[in-house]
Amino acid sequence: MKRTKIKELLTVEPKGQSVVVKGWVRTFRNNQFISLNDGSTIQNLQAVVALNSVDEGTLKRITTGACLFVTGELVPSPAKGQPVELRVQALEILGDSDPEKYPLQPKKHSLEFLREIAHLRARTNTFGAVMRVRHAMAFAVHKFFNDRGFYYIHTPIITGSDAEGAGAMFRVTTLDMNKPPRDEHGHIDVKEDFFGRETNLTVSGQLEVETYALALSETYTFGPTFRAENSNTTRHLAEFWMIEPEMAFYDIHDNMELAEAFLKYLCQYALDHCAEDLEFLDKRAKEEEQSKPQDQRSELGLIDRLKFVVENEFQKLSYTEAFDILRNSNPNKKKKFQYLIENWGVDLQSEHERYLVEKHFKKPVILYNYPAAIKAFYMRQNEDGKTVAAMDVLFPGIGEIIGGSQREERYDNLLKRVQEMGLPEKELWWYLELRKFGSAPHSGFGLGFERLILFVTGMTNIRDVIPFPRFPGNAEF
Ligand code: ATP
Ligand code: MN
Repeated sequence: MKRTKIKELLTVEPKGQSVVVKGWVRTFRNNQFISLNDGSTIQNLQAVVALNSVDEGTLKRITTGACLFVTGELVPSPAKGQPVELRVQALEILGDSDPEKYPLQPKKHSLEFLREIAHLRARTNTFGAVMRVRHAMAFAVHKFFNDRGFYYIHTPIITGSDAEGAGAMFRVTTLDMNKPPRDEHGHIDVKEDFFGRETNLTVSGQLEVETYALALSETYTFGPTFRAENSNTTRHLAEFWMIEPEMAFYDIHDNMELAEAFLKYLCQYALDHCAEDLEFLDKRAKEEEQSKPQDQRSELGLIDRLKFVVENEFQKLSYTEAFDILRNSNPNKKKKFQYLIENWGVDLQSEHERYLVEKHFKKPVILYNYPAAIKAFYMRQNEDGKTVAAMDVLFPGIGEIIGGSQREERYDNLLKRVQEMGLPEKELWWYLELRKFGSAPHSGFGLGFERLILFVTGMTNIRDVIPFPRFPGNAEF
């Protein structure tokens, strides 16, 4: 007989039909009631062992964490809170789990502890829910773009360019670190390396995907990116996934509109497709919040926050307008900000972004036209000579979730920026050349996938929304 997933069993009418279920034991009570989970849903199936239906030896091996193969009759459940249960006819242990040693006892574990057993934490309700939502969001990303005629472009993971400047890079090499080949100056001879040059892991697929936007019009890339930044924060990983759409013929305003529509679509998709998991995560986040001081609790619960994003227009304002608001704000006047806002041109810190989103506007905010000096070389220069057509989308509890811009499509302007910023013009030859042959106005942005998952799941540490987090000092698993 074929296995049926628990998710499916919970929707069929119980008529005593025989079914096969496989899954992991969450709890086993009174030598009779097995709570079984197979990951297809957050719900467990109750399997009831009748007297003498399972031999003594097998019964002892039904322990938390063990993997079972159960055949039984699906019947209406007399117990509250579950429509059906399984009356066990035959039961086989697929994998034992020594109850003395199994680290995941049926009790509440801290997220810190669970990070240390990341190979088992997927078997908790929280991580099951987070990873199902993560899957749904990845699927929704592709669906959103596919439905709009965007093409998915696979940009390289190993890159020969280190000019993007989005963050420090991880070197990729096959040279023998103990005795690397040296050139006549005693420097490591990169010509001897695998690619005959220095190579790194990508920090962004943007520059490469731009080449495809200038051929296929509407494109995106969605892949892993790597930044060797030493930021031990709850919002930074050394390895994270990024979604980067890049569109020909879009100006900065088209770009902002797409970003807003995209985020709304993803939130709505989660509401429509992940209701059970979101309900669980909503409750979980509320419990977590109880331990926080009143003024740090969010006014809305998780599901209400998602609805709020879908239903409200994002606040759009320029850097300069935001700067004025921040300079005149209470926390600035009372010197409550760690970084005070005094001179136009300063980079905004997370505390400023969160003030705008959480205190001032109380909704998602898109800031645009940033000072050129604090933004990347490829962003389009505005007529004022001071700002570039950059945009950041700021979310409650997260801060920056998207960074993007209209790209500089004018060859002379771009070259001037490259030179001013001391970037390697020679390495960027192909990027510059795009502006020589059939250049076009174009725009794009990057959405940090894990920051999105943080928002959609209500989790608070980015290390808990990716299966195996990579951060300074940690590459276990
Ligand atoms: P931040 O200022 O928050 O470090 P950034 O300005 O370096 O972000 P970008 O280079 O614009 O970020 O990258 C685009 C998006 O990628 C960001 O908006 C964010 O969602 C995400 N992101 C950037 N760095 C990280 C990281 N280290 N870990 C996870 N997500 C990240
Ligand atoms: Mn950064």
